[in-house]
Amino acid sequence: SLLHRATFLTSSARLDQLPPPGAPEVCFVGRSNAGKSSAINVLTQQRRLAFASKTPGRTRLINMFSLPDKLDPDQDIGYLVDLPGYGYASVARDDRNTWADVLGGYLRTRPSLVGVVLLIDIRRGVTDLDRRMIDFLVPAGRPVLALLTKADKFPYGQRIKAQFAVRKELEAIASLHTIPFSSTDRIGLEETGEYIENWISP
Ligand code: GDP
Repeated sequence: SLLHRATFLTSSARLDQLPPPGAPEVCFVGRSNAGKSSAINVLTQQRRLAFASKTPGRTRLINMFSLPDKLDPDQDIGYLVDLPGYGYASVARDDRNTWADVLGGYLRTRPSLVGVVLLIDIRRGVTDLDRRMIDFLVPAGRPVLALLTKADKFPYGQRIKAQFAVRKELEAIASLHTIPFSSTDRIGLEETGEYIENWISP
């Protein structure tokens, strides 16, 4: 599938260092430790793709992955964009502001951004920091796919309950879809892959 062809393209520390907007982009955002890297790795079927983003010094960067055309690999059909995780307690205030500028700026202004995958740990639900993130998304009218990660930690009934609670919290988002997801148990994997591919190539 398209996502399995993902390859690392570039890392940028600032918005003006990103490649100029081109093919459709889907970005991934979420609290640190929500399971973002694991989700990107399992969705692309590449065990280490997103962990490059976690090496020291790279966690604050925007990492972009190309999704090349099958027949013409020089042509990119779309991009996956791994945005820095938020919520590291150790980050200095100045740094945090820069982070908010980068993240908020990207989410508000990137013209090629067709969808946002928001990762939420199913056990934690929507946190204050998630709400700040959502404040960037609502005015921009971005479509959001909320993945309720680590769904393997909950039995089915509790999963549905958590999904209902998250939907209620995120009701300000005009176009919202939620999927209970687990990288370890591959819950929701196929549905998520199809959803993202449909954003990129409807
Ligand atoms: P990130 O900081 O958002 O990129 O999160 P990671 O992908 O590095 O995952 C954070 C921690 O959660 C790691 O210890 C993972 O092994 C664990 N984790 C990630 N996804 C899952 C999942 O689907 N199920 C379970 N049980 N643990 C997970």
